[in-house]
Amino acid sequence: MKEKKIVIVGAGVAGVNAATKLVDQGYPGELITIIDMGKDPYNRKPEEVMTGFLGAGGWSDGKLTYHTAIGGQLSKYCGEEKAMELMDQVITNFKRFHPKPEEVQCSNPEAEPDFIKPYFGLRLFPVWHVGTDYLSEIAKNWYDYLVSKGVQFEWEAKVTDINFKNNTGAVTLPQSDLQHFFEYDKLIFAVGKSGIDFAQELANQYQLPDEPKSVQIGVRFEAPQKHFQKLIDISYDFKLYRKFEDKGVSLRSFCTNNNAAYVAVEETYGDHSYNGHAKKDMRYRNDMTNFGILMEINGIEDPFTWSRDLVKKVQKDATGLYYSPSRRPSQTSEGGTVSAVAINSQQMDEVREAFQGYYQYIDDFIEDMKKVFPTLAHDWGVYIPEVKYLSPEPLVKYRNLSLTKFPNVHFVGDALSARGITVSGAQAIYVAEDILSYYLRDTEYPEFISHYVA
Ligand SMILES: Cc1cc2nc3c(=O)[nH]c(=O)nc-3n(C[C@H](O)[C@H](O)[C@H](O)COP(=O)(O)OP(=O)(O)OC[C@H]3O[C@@H](n4cnc5c(N)ncnc54)[C@H](O)[C@@H]3O)c2cc1C
Repeated sequence: MKEKKIVIVGAGVAGVNAATKLVDQGYPGELITIIDMGKDPYNRKPEEVMTGFLGAGGWSDGKLTYHTAIGGQLSKYCGEEKAMELMDQVITNFKRFHPKPEEVQCSNPEAEPDFIKPYFGLRLFPVWHVGTDYLSEIAKNWYDYLVSKGVQFEWEAKVTDINFKNNTGAVTLPQSDLQHFFEYDKLIFAVGKSGIDFAQELANQYQLPDEPKSVQIGVRFEAPQKHFQKLIDISYDFKLYRKFEDKGVSLRSFCTNNNAAYVAVEETYGDHSYNGHAKKDMRYRNDMTNFGILMEINGIEDPFTWSRDLVKKVQKDATGLYYSPSRRPSQTSEGGTVSAVAINSQQMDEVREAFQGYYQYIDDFIEDMKKVFPTLAHDWGVYIPEVKYLSPEPLVKYRNLSLTKFPNVHFVGDALSARGITVSGAQAIYVAEDILSYYLRDTEYPEFISHYVA
């Protein structure tokens, strides 16, 4: 047998789906090790938003988008039909470990309403709603299943080095600063956004070729839900969009949360940016709506550095900014105030300067929303910035997402080109299927083969 031991770096959505596919198909769990710098689902705390079992997906707003145009690149690698089938598998996994699978519901809007047409397009696609509150239970059930299948986990263990040339890696235990090493035959690199620095280091160290990328930046917009109700009735997670092809800019509303909707602070590279989540438990109902207004800007030479510099410029007192013509920052679901420094309209000019002219697109977007939703007027606020760091995206073989320079190393999830739960999980299953087909061809592992074929 040529390859045996699989190490998965990151127990996030991608890592967990890859391991599940492997053991579901009879791959011996003992040969799979998942290393994560966060905690197992029994010990992970709600404030640990980005790390631990299910990663950023573990405390997300639990919306599983079901369309190849949403959530990053998938069909580019495997085609439309396969992409949908892979996403089905991810959704099935979430339902399978859900304590009340019958509550997982799909919203599927069908027609673009006339009242938004003069100003915006509306992207229509199905979304499965899992509910943030259930994610912790799902995580525990899922974890127990993988443990029962023999999968090995290392928690609170940060992978700090990987040697792609001799298939080894180093793990540091932050509590003690102790280090140990691991070997792998196949590596699935699934570090998500919280591992983006590490991914960049490796990309630099091994001079990994990458795909050209765009900038994705904007604000998290928040307002009372009543102003948007007419549209929410048609599409719960509505996606308004507009495109300025000649300028290389497009805008979309991103990840809409309603009913019990909270703005969440994300910390990347030590800076604050914003996202949102929705609680399903109606005890948390606050009748607010929040969504990103995200610009995709093409043609910027080094989009990663450009975005990072911009994010740094819109920080104050070690957090992000909040602007509203009439409101104050809202409460978090834990009852505190969302961390943000409130600024006035003069200070907004500094923000506009930091965006180097591109903020005009966001101003126009908000102005036009005021026309489409006339009660909105001044009853809104923006948390600045919301950012999606799309870099680095190393060049991979589309067949199995392995590095073009190191064929036994597979990149998946947000560490590759995904921006959401369904696509991250689907990419990982795609890789697992490739590994399984490889083993299927390799008859030197009879136990595995007999199980797989059975
Ligand atoms: C607040 C919030 C709400 C969201 N809501 C939604 C939503 O409703 N729908 C949706 O589709 N998407 C949502 N997302 C995005 C979604 O969660 C991510 O796209 C998805 O989790 C990415 O999966 P992943 O496996 O690639 O990375 P992650 O799920 O982030 O997992 C990465 C894992 O790698 C570990 N790790 C990182 N570096 C190392 C290292 N060096 N050593 C060891 N371990 C490491 C981390 O601890 C983490 O557990 C949300 C994100 C946030 C932050």
